[in-house]
Amino acid sequence: SLTCNGNSHSFFNHPDLFAILSKFELIYFPLIDTKYSLEDILHKQLECDILIIEGSIKKGLIKNGVDYSKLIENYAQEAKHIITAGTCATFGGVFKEYDPERISGFCFDKERVKENFNSYKDKLISLPGCPIHPKWLSYVLQMLGSGNTIPIDKLNRPQELYNITVHTGCSRNEYFEWKIDTKGFGHKEGCSFYEHGCQGPYSRGSCNKILWNDTSSKTIVGTPCFGCTEPTFPKERFFFTKTNMGIPATMPLEVSKRAYLTITGIAKSFTIKRLERNIIDYDS
Ligand code: SF4
Repeated sequence: SLTCNGNSHSFFNHPDLFAILSKFELIYFPLIDTKYSLEDILHKQLECDILIIEGSIKKGLIKNGVDYSKLIENYAQEAKHIITAGTCATFGGVFKEYDPERISGFCFDKERVKENFNSYKDKLISLPGCPIHPKWLSYVLQMLGSGNTIPIDKLNRPQELYNITVHTGCSRNEYFEWKIDTKGFGHKEGCSFYEHGCQGPYSRGSCNKILWNDTSSKTIVGTPCFGCTEPTFPKERFFFTKTNMGIPATMPLEVSKRAYLTITGIAKSFTIKRLERNIIDYDS
């Protein structure tokens, strides 16, 4: 598959990495020493409970003489569970931009369901993200490992992780509510939605519920969310909010334009002095 291995590297940062790995027998993984080699998985039909796919799928891709799409299909048929780790493996992601006709996710091509979906839909868990949070993967592994069922949505994403938006839990929510945009990247004050292109209200994911490095998130530190968990990722312009007459061209997820205009119209007519001030007064 086509990958930068960002999801693997994210998972290597899991604080409980070794404890999690100790609960599973790792058959093969290209980045670390495993019990079996690439030769073994090519020439022996090994038993496989969980297949984790990282990277976009390009039909007929030959790397080092190996047809990876065939190899993946082969083990996908054997596996009891399949996890597509990352937006590339799930929807096509960044690599799809290179050859949109031939590159896709494993069972989805952006939001379009591929022909193979019916064969795998009952054992597929979609984990989009660029990269995924290490604890999203450990949640799925531990649930599967202990025989639990994971409630999923129509794109097979775990509801626990993706039935909220990135906006949920962001420390800048108060600024969003009162329509106060940030004055720049990295500023402690303001929300990045109105002028800086934050995709948090459109993007499903728990980045502000399960914090990165157990500490923070992109939107909390003052970088707009890029919407990396969505089938539409990557969008053409980051850091930019498309507006029509000052109104965002796209409404927050499942919020009607009428509801949005009513709430923001009221919010905009008030000035909340506390929110206009800097959080830290460096001159005092
Ligand atoms: S910065 Fe983004 S995620 Fe945070 S409150 Fe604003 S819109 Fe929501």
